[in-house]
Amino acid sequence: MAGVRLVGVWKQFGEFVAVRDMNLEVKDGEFMVLLGPSGCGKTTTLRMIAGLEEPTKGQIYIGDKLVADPEKGVFVPPKDRDIAMVFQSYALYPHMTVYDNIAFPLKLRKVPKQEIDKRVREVAELLGLSELLNRKPRELSGGQRPRVALGRAIVRKPQVFLMDEPLSNLDAKLRVRMRAELKKLQRQLGVTTIYVTHDQVEAMTMGDRIAVMNAGVLQQVGTPEEVYDKPANMFVAGFIGSPPMNFIDATITEDGFVDFGEFRLKLLPDQFEVLEEKGYVGKEVVFGIRPEDLYDAMFAQVKIPGENMVRAMVDIIENLGNEKIVHLRVGKVTFLGAFRSESKVVEGQEVDVVFDMRKIHIFDKNTKKAVF
Ligand code: ATP
Repeated sequence: MAGVRLVGVWKQFGEFVAVRDMNLEVKDGEFMVLLGPSGCGKTTTLRMIAGLEEPTKGQIYIGDKLVADPEKGVFVPPKDRDIAMVFQSYALYPHMTVYDNIAFPLKLRKVPKQEIDKRVREVAELLGLSELLNRKPRELSGGQRPRVALGRAIVRKPQVFLMDEPLSNLDAKLRVRMRAELKKLQRQLGVTTIYVTHDQVEAMTMGDRIAVMNAGVLQQVGTPEEVYDKPANMFVAGFIGSPPMNFIDATITEDGFVDFGEFRLKLLPDQFEVLEEKGYVGKEVVFGIRPEDLYDAMFAQVKIPGENMVRAMVDIIENLGNEKIVHLRVGKVTFLGAFRSESKVVEGQEVDVVFDMRKIHIFDKNTKKAVF
């Protein structure tokens, strides 16, 4: 097994920069998710690690081995990188049985027949495919096909798995099940895995760590908890979490409040201290709070009008059964709250809303970076 390291990696297609100065270390045995919107450079990054694309600049290491460095003229082809890829399309051979599909990479490497048979059966057992070895891909269900693709990837015992949205063709229910199965399998095998997705739920539930990308630039690398609770900037804060974090323009006042014009909230002493220290007093900032950190005052413990509570108009209620997404408004300031289903809010009526001040975020208005 081996980790993967990218050092100052760039990829340009003509003038267009698809990946900009990427530095990333994936630890041995780690499940790393590359997350970001369409076109942010995730697939290009994965393809460079696989050797399907050559970086324009920078170094890529698999284990201790330098596999790509254009300045040194180093480029190890995919077949010599000891990696296995699983694609969104699975790329199964339609005319071959499940057995032959899984056996294929071993046959290619001229592994003795007996050894192939043993390994294919082991993998089939592990993936619950033992009864299906004689079927063709078209005779499989939606959940069985990705398993065959996984089987083909793991049969070779590669050092690294590279996966590009392998679950995106499955229906929602199956995706949830496969998510858990894939994660369990990766834990069992302990193989370093780099997994590309634009689905933040997949990233949060599967990744040991998540590398969030936007427009070719790595934004933050951290555990799911870290990127959720301590987003490094407004992009990460807004991309992770559903419904997304509320952002409201505000000013930090000298007496320790965040002022939205229409209302104000009192900062906790240590929050104000940080803002004072960093020179944000009297300045405009962007205030952030997740909808789930707003409460219908009926269910809040600490409520102090003018400090952490404000009366808001309920514009729209989306009842999700387990919670209510409430569109709130104070004057011109609008934000979302995710209230408990027991909340008695009514559209067109007012409600007292409590802000959990421990959970707030402040961003620099210009750099979009988190102050905290
Ligand atoms: P998606 O989720 O849509 O696949 P992605 O984050 O994986 O998105 P990439 O496929 O890495 O994005 O593409 C990053 C950018 O590079 C895109 O703007 C894409 O159009 C561009 N790009 C990718 N491959 C090439 C190529 N061979 N030639 C020119 N531009 C390319």
